[in-house]
Amino acid sequence: MSTCEDYTFVCPECSQSITVNASMREALVENGCVICGAPVTQSAFDPGCDE
Ligand SMILES: [Zn+2]
Repeated sequence: MSTCEDYTFVCPECSQSITVNASMREALVENGCVICGAPVTQSAFDPGCDE
């Protein structure tokens, strides 16, 4: 069974893929990609569960 607590983030700009939790996701949306600084939207995150 998968958990809904983690998300896979794939940057639309630099294609960096990292696993983040909910609070990290919010920080990325607010601050942009940690690697390249590109703006990040909710759609860049793939939830770890199907909903
Ligand atoms: Zn990036």
